[in-house]
Amino acid sequence: MGEQVLAAVRTGPGRTELREFPMPEVPDDGALLKVEVAGICGTDVKMYAKPPFADPVIMGHENVGVIARAGRTFAERQDVREGDRVFVEHYVGCMRCEWCRIGEYRHCELTDWRTNPDARRYGYTTSDNPYHLWGGFAQYLYLPWNAVLHKVPAGVSAELAGIATPQSNGIEWALFSAGVGYDSAVLIQGPGQQGLSQTVACKQAGASLIIVTGTSRDAARLELAKRLGADAVIDVQTEDPRDRVRELTGGKGVDIVLDCTSGAGTAPVLLGIDALKRREGTLLIQGELAAFPDFPVKQVTEKSITIKSARGHSFRACELAVKQLASGRFPLQELATHRFGLSDVDRAIRAVGGEVGEDVVHVSLLPWED
Ligand SMILES: [Zn+2]
Ligand SMILES: [Zn+2]
Repeated sequence: MGEQVLAAVRTGPGRTELREFPMPEVPDDGALLKVEVAGICGTDVKMYAKPPFADPVIMGHENVGVIARAGRTFAERQDVREGDRVFVEHYVGCMRCEWCRIGEYRHCELTDWRTNPDARRYGYTTSDNPYHLWGGFAQYLYLPWNAVLHKVPAGVSAELAGIATPQSNGIEWALFSAGVGYDSAVLIQGPGQQGLSQTVACKQAGASLIIVTGTSRDAARLELAKRLGADAVIDVQTEDPRDRVRELTGGKGVDIVLDCTSGAGTAPVLLGIDALKRREGTLLIQGELAAFPDFPVKQVTEKSITIKSARGHSFRACELAVKQLASGRFPLQELATHRFGLSDVDRAIRAVGGEVGEDVVHVSLLPWED
């Protein structure tokens, strides 16, 4: 028997098994990544509890590691060598369509598991596919010719680089989608890793007022939000967030609202609509709810609100995120609060879901540890 690779495989709702896979033969235009860190986010919590399909999946879509083996053509085209530390985007685009050509792989049909059953996307593609290693909760990850890599600068640890995904979302959603910039007043709802990454992006972009909301159990995260640049924080359970936003903005309301909550129902969107300024504010929303009963469409149109959707990150956002991590300008290492080994994937995902441990912000899965 040849070399084997250990992986944590999702075999059903809330079920994980450790399995071994044969070490793939690396083709000339492919490579193997030795996974150092796989970040876990709220999406994993949802996909673990309610898998979108029954096939076995090695989850883990926020992956950092070292190039262990690279075919000659892969190394040449990707400009990498064995030993290089890289952050791997989870999108594996076709590289031919218009979206891919402009660096927006996230919109490519070939990486969209929702509409394409044969899509390739790390953490979502079944391990039944050739090469098997399509997720970061494994010792190795297979890299085809069209994997998108970002080199991690020297001095940035694997664990810190593991924050590249939430940080790139922060840059994408707050700056590129919602247009936060110089002198913006922003309300960020939810102080999890995503809300905190948005805080940093807004601060660096020059926002003059950053307000972050949370609940009473978020006390430590709200303190961290202040260290990362929030001007004010609101505990929505002990204070009236509408009154506080009005007070903090001199009665005007904020320019932009970013919803980074999870499992909070319609409340964050309704608060966002109320908190926005009288005209032309922007609201960035998540797609958690399938439908929105009694959506206040009249208020939205009267306030001339623009609604934007939170949807992943572009190549440019990832590059900027990696640069920001390397700059050391913000204490982003404070986000990396918890680490788990490969045999603890189940606990690690539950920790992100708030079921295990306290004050969890960002969880790192280290596949070479037990
Ligand atoms: Zn994620
Ligand atoms: Zn494409």
